[in-house]
Amino acid sequence: MLALRARRLFDGREMHHDRVVIVENGRVADVTGDAPATVDLGDATLLSGLIDCHVHLAFDAGLDVVGTLEQPGLADRMRSAARQHLAAGVTTVRDLGDRDYLALRLDLGLDGPEILSAGPPITTPKGHCWFLGGAAAGEQGVREAVRERAARGVHVIKMMVTGGEMTAGTHSHLLQYGLAELKAAADEAHAHGLPITGHAHCAEGISHALEAGFDSIEHCSFFTEDSFEVDYGLIARLAAADVVVSLTAGMAPSPVPPPPRIQQRIAGMMAAVQAFYAAGVDFVIGTDAGIGPPKPHGVLPYGAEMLVEQGYAAIDVLRASTSVAARACRVDERKGMIAPGFDADLLAVAGDPLTDITALRRPLAVYRMGRLVTAP
Ligand SMILES: [Zn+2]
Repeated sequence: MLALRARRLFDGREMHHDRVVIVENGRVADVTGDAPATVDLGDATLLSGLIDCHVHLAFDAGLDVVGTLEQPGLADRMRSAARQHLAAGVTTVRDLGDRDYLALRLDLGLDGPEILSAGPPITTPKGHCWFLGGAAAGEQGVREAVRERAARGVHVIKMMVTGGEMTAGTHSHLLQYGLAELKAAADEAHAHGLPITGHAHCAEGISHALEAGFDSIEHCSFFTEDSFEVDYGLIARLAAADVVVSLTAGMAPSPVPPPPRIQQRIAGMMAAVQAFYAAGVDFVIGTDAGIGPPKPHGVLPYGAEMLVEQGYAAIDVLRASTSVAARACRVDERKGMIAPGFDADLLAVAGDPLTDITALRRPLAVYRMGRLVTAP
């Protein structure tokens, strides 16, 4: 039995003080004020482990993530990427684009985070991330693609609604699919009990994903061909709908800056990030970890920091990274909270993240199903 005491405890919803978390058989057995501790973490905050809703374990965060895919040892690189998340306190990741369904069978057990996976994202022939192997077109084609993924045991369906920055020949401001195909995919996903999330970089793509009944929308940027234009009316529609916006927040210090087309749009993206919060949109963080040097695996704490810098209350950012993310990922019956019966995926950080969100970057200890994780 493990009994962890910390000065502060963030249970996924609220901050508490001077609690002891009792862990038995990998799960939280009790949260109490008066049990003797076997581990006293002192002036630390114990949190429910963080959840990154959008990562790519197959991408190595280098300068040529697509080229590197072809090199031997991809599964081993993905295992290493997964371990980096866990070492940073990210105890659950949702992989929104791998190749050959590798993320479903890394077999890391407690040596990695819990991995939820979409398999290869569904995209048009030669569309965004076609090189991951998920091309499908037409209503029947996308339905078959969803059925194949459901049969493989994926946890979520990922669909490329618009083009993307990393794929030559595709364009972030242009649609890839018609509304009928998006609706067919959403319908088929829901028939299999799966959530569906859409990659959308332009307002029309966001609007279509919303209309098609997608459960969440990744990026939700407002790219135009040359610039950026926030659609505040659309943000109000997102806030009124039962949809989660997955904010692509988080950049670690890197000698290699983001690509110029992204750099030019950062001010606009931050305006959108502020508008989402002001409108009361349901949000989580999906860092897109792995896609380039500023996005190493385990970058989520920087995403939390970015949102606080943009005016988000730290408690809302912590909720978005734990209980709200667990709900979005459909694992909220066992993840995202420190409460009896929940998995003992825990992160202890020095200090108080409510007053200093950078505390998330200083993990003192990470527990995965109650087992202490040592840094790689
Ligand atoms: Zn992505």
